[in-house]
Formats: sequence, structure tokens, C-alpha cells
Amino acid sequence: RTRNAGGPVIFAVATGMGRAAIAVMRVSGEGCGTILRALCGMLPEARRASFRPIRYRNEILDEAVVLWLPGPRSYSGEDSFELHLHAGPAIIEGVSLALTELGARPAEPGEFTRRAVQAGRLDLLQAEAVADLVEAESAAQRRQALSQADGALSRLYQEWAERLRRLLAQQEALIDFPDETLPDAVEAALEAERAALQAEMALHLADQRGELVRRGITVVIAGAPNAGKSSLLNALAGYDAAIVTQRAGTTRDAIAVDWILDGIKLRLIDTAGLRETEDEIEAEGIRRAMFHVKQADLVVHLYADERPAPLLPDAIIVRNKTDLAPAPEDVLGISATTGAGLDTLRDLLRERIRTLMSGAGVPLTRARHRAGIQEAAQHLALASEAEWAELRGEELRLAMRALGRLTGQVDVESLLDVVFGQFCIGK
Ligand code: GDP
Ligand code: ZN
Repeated sequence: RTRNAGGPVIFAVATGMGRAAIAVMRVSGEGCGTILRALCGMLPEARRASFRPIRYRNEILDEAVVLWLPGPRSYSGEDSFELHLHAGPAIIEGVSLALTELGARPAEPGEFTRRAVQAGRLDLLQAEAVADLVEAESAAQRRQALSQADGALSRLYQEWAERLRRLLAQQEALIDFPDETLPDAVEAALEAERAALQAEMALHLADQRGELVRRGITVVIAGAPNAGKSSLLNALAGYDAAIVTQRAGTTRDAIAVDWILDGIKLRLIDTAGLRETEDEIEAEGIRRAMFHVKQADLVVHLYADERPAPLLPDAIIVRNKTDLAPAPEDVLGISATTGAGLDTLRDLLRERIRTLMSGAGVPLTRARHRAGIQEAAQHLALASEAEWAELRGEELRLAMRALGRLTGQVDVESLLDVVFGQFCIGK
């Protein structure tokens, strides 16, 4: 990858909006040192914090901590600087205006990180992890994003690409051999390595941990009207997120509540009661309830009177209102209103989550990764079916290419918009 000198100068407030004491204005791009000199009257020592008046058109806009970060040892890889300003809106406004008049423009979402990728400071997988770090709400999300930002997933894909490259080289060395003299053992060894790679990719694809941690584990509470679904959601979430009433059919659409259990983000969904109905709005709610049940990672099927047939084979059947009548022996009984049995239900959910989260090694974390590995694995499968060595080589090459696209070693420009479309401004 080639390192470009840098793009036009961009700026953004990198700290959170709303009331705060400090706002960090981040500026990056070719020639931004000139802008810093104009604002500070001099260029401060590199990578040293100093406290200076920020002046523009003979007026002091603020006194700020200034950091001059010349490239390539900066986040974006370009010359850049930071102004740690007082967070008053008039200060930010004034400094933004000054920066604009000095030739900078507001940054696009993720543009600093995008430049870091273009400068070769980060690969695409690491850039995605930066976005995940900014959004991390649970400890598991934080750990996963840090590990991916540190290059754990990149190293796995690079290792696979390197093994493919060696396989391809050995395979091509064999093409020149006349068939009769080709030792079977050599060919068998190559095939064994190809199959091993394909099997490792299949395991990696079967592992859902990364995506579950990233988007949260969806737990749907389903069941007949009045079973106590909304009451259970409120009891688990610890506050009144769902409306509880005595009239059947109150919760017409789904209500979702984020819930962190043992450092893992869960999304609890309370659905409309499942029953036949004439009411059109309620019917729509029920249609959505079935949709949620089908999409769920875990389903808690709640009932209060007659034991229903399970909605799904692995739904957790729970009998509510044990304060009114005891549950059958083989069913978990709870009372959403007294809290009886809720600890046992939480333990059961923990156990199910542990099963969902089984896997070894570094997990993939996005649909983009899944699609890329699927493609690579497919080409590996095709390679084993190919009749000629040349075709086999081509399939191996295509598998390598799919891996290269994941890190951004191949086709990086065409992937930038896809990856940076969902970034926040200032990162
Ligand atoms: P949903 O329609 O399944 O969401 O049920 P709700 O949560 O709205 O509850 C329906 C009614 O059952 C409300 O009057 C609740 O107060 C009541 N209820 C819920 N859980 C319990 C419970 O454990 N014991 C008793 N006695 N009543 C409950
Ligand atoms: Zn309800």
C-alpha cells in the first residue's frame, strides 16, 4: 500500500455533544501545520501538550491545550493537531469559522479513520473495530472491539491468506511435472492442507459469538395475552418499560429493552399476545410477534393458565403467577409480581447464553466478514472439485482475494464507503 501525503484539511469536534467542560477539536490534513501556526502564532513542539491562546483576526477565541501531531505518527497518518477547548458553543462556533476561513472543511463521518486506513495505519477490520469501540455498551462488546482493533481478526485472516499463498505456490510448482512422475504423497499433502483450511473456515462461520456480542442477544418473551409478559419484562429490566394492564391485548407492538446480564448485552422483547383476534391492529401486533419469535436467539414462552404447546422446540417454557397457583413440577414457575423464581430464570438464561456463546479462537463480528469467509470457503470447495491444476489454482487465488478484501489489502477503495457509511463524525 502506498502512503499518500494527505487529503484536504478536515476538522470535527471529537468529543460528545451536549453539556461538557472540554471539547476536543480534531484537525487533520496536508498543510494543517500552517493553520495551527496561524492560530497559535507558532508551531508548538510535536507531541507535547501546551496551553496557549487561540487567536484569529486579532481576537482571542479561547485558551486551549494544544497538541501538534505531525504525520505519519498520528491517528490519521497525516499531519494533524488537537485543540482541547472549553466546550462553550460560541467557542466551538468561533474556532470552526476560523478553521473554515483558513481553508479547512468539516469532516465526514469516520473520515479520520478512513484516512488512517488509506495511510496504512489501520486495516479495514481494525477500522470497523474502532466504530464498535465508540458504540460499546457492554463489557463483552468492549473486550471484543479492543481485541479486533488490536488486529486479532486481521492476524487470523492474514494467516489463512499466507497458507493459501504457500498452497498455491506448491501447486504451481507441480503443474510443470509430467503426471506420471508426480508423487501421490505430495498431492495428498496439498489436498489435506486445502481441506484443513476449509474446515477451519467452516468452524469460524459456525461461531456466532462475535455477532451476538456486537448486536446483543435477542430474548423474546412470547405467550398468550395476560400471561404476564409485560410484567416479566419490567421485572427483569428493573423498571416499567412495558405497559401492564388487566385487559387482554394491551401490548400491541413489540417493546424492546436493552439489558446487560453478566457483561453481555441482551435485547428483551415483549410481544403482543398470541391468539386469534378480530382486531386489525392487534392482528398486526401478533404477526410481528411471530416475526420476532422466529428471529430470536432465545424465546421465553410464558403462560398463566393452560400449558401451551411450545412455540419452538427450544423455547424456554415458563409458568407465571405461581402466587395464585403452583406450577407443574417439570416447569419453571415464576411470579412476575412477587419476583419468585426470577433468579432461577436468570440462571437458565445465563446457561442458554453460555451455550450460544460457545466457540474457540477469534470470532468474526459482522455480516461483511461472514460473506467474505463464505466466499473464500466456497472457492476452497470448488478447488477440490476442479479437474485441472490451473483451475484449482484459480480457485485458490479467488479464495485469497476474498480474504484480502476483508482486511482491505484488495479492493480497498471500493470498500471504504461500505465500511465508513455508519461511522460517527470526529472518528
Ligand atoms: P401480558 O398481556 O402477557 O403482557 O400480561 P401483563 O404483564 O400485562 O399482565 C396481565 C395481568 O396479570 C396484569 O393485571 C398483571 O398485574 C397480572 N400479573 C402479571 N404477573 C402476575 C403474577 O405473577 N401474579 C399475579 N397474581 N398477577 C400477575
Ligand atoms: Zn403485555
